[in-house]
Amino acid sequence: MRIAAATDLFAADSGEAPWSDIRRAIADEYAASHALPWIVGFSGGKDSTLVAHLVFEHLLSLPRSARRRPVHIVANDTLVESPLVIAHIRAVQDEMRNAASAFDLPVTVATTAPDPEHTFWVNMIGRGYPSPNRTFRWCTDRMKIQPTSRYVRQQVDASGEVVLLLGVRRDESATRAGTVARYDNGERLNRHNDLQGCWVFRPIVELSTEDVWEFLGTENPPWGGSHARLIKLYRDAGGGECPVVTAKSDAPSCGTTSSRFGCWTCTVVDKDRSLAGFVEAGFGEFTPLLDFRDWLVSIRNDPERRLARRRDGRVLIAPNGVHVPGPFTLATRAEILTRLLALQERVGRQLIMPSEVDRIRALWAKDALDGAERSAAG
Ligand code: SF4
Repeated sequence: MRIAAATDLFAADSGEAPWSDIRRAIADEYAASHALPWIVGFSGGKDSTLVAHLVFEHLLSLPRSARRRPVHIVANDTLVESPLVIAHIRAVQDEMRNAASAFDLPVTVATTAPDPEHTFWVNMIGRGYPSPNRTFRWCTDRMKIQPTSRYVRQQVDASGEVVLLLGVRRDESATRAGTVARYDNGERLNRHNDLQGCWVFRPIVELSTEDVWEFLGTENPPWGGSHARLIKLYRDAGGGECPVVTAKSDAPSCGTTSSRFGCWTCTVVDKDRSLAGFVEAGFGEFTPLLDFRDWLVSIRNDPERRLARRRDGRVLIAPNGVHVPGPFTLATRAEILTRLLALQERVGRQLIMPSEVDRIRALWAKDALDGAERSAAG
């Protein structure tokens, strides 16, 4: 398939149906009579990069007076992203910001992050949550869904309604095809399952993976540079990505074997593919991070490292009569923090923020006090 060049934008149908249809849909939707803002969910992966590319390109093709609707390009930083992936996201965001300012585009480039109370380390080291796994995956909601949802709600509060553009595609995976199908109502816009006032627009839902790569390999991004860095990132990581997640029903695609761009701490996957891929591609400096993640997996189910009671003081017995251990002991939490700080020193990059360490110490003090009070009460 020949890829339409930027100059072919909105050309009449000429045998390049997917691209002209997609561009026409974006143009039609942007030209709607209302001025509801667009929010582009940007994960830094190939699909959301393609959507951001097409939207940017469309804004550039319009005269200034027709750029009536604000566009937010929103990435989420879990604060434990794979180092190369977050570096890539930040670099692209800077390029987008510069281009938006130079061309006077109504584009806001934003990054959301988990509530400081619910970062990965505050929950694991501060509260003792065991490393997330498939049955207790406490991370996705707190670190991805809630921060993005908060941003969307703020825009809904300000404008009444918003349109959320997602780079989901039907052929991404069997799981994804199932969640994509929920939004198939035959209309261009569908109501978001969980977010009131939020409409979902999936401009590239019918594209194949080959289409996406062919486009990104042929076209340069409208914000400058090229997509070569992104393509290399995939080559090094060896595959998939952790997509934008805005609803619990989308969450299964986060932390699966195909999600190789997820958090470097991800213990939901059996083996971290992205870091391992980067290490194999020559980024040996990430080996200590991989080892640390593997250590987190190894201590998760050690009964010596878990309290008998849950944080609320209850002892939990599963319906099959088996005792469900509580959070990590204070000694284990302290050991995780000591090892993490040593790792941070060793790799020379920030892995935990000082404000998280402060919050963790405050939670420990409270837990110690609660434990002492429980013992005194007998
Ligand atoms: S990538 Fe893994 S650790 Fe990160 S939010 Fe997804 S499931 Fe949780």
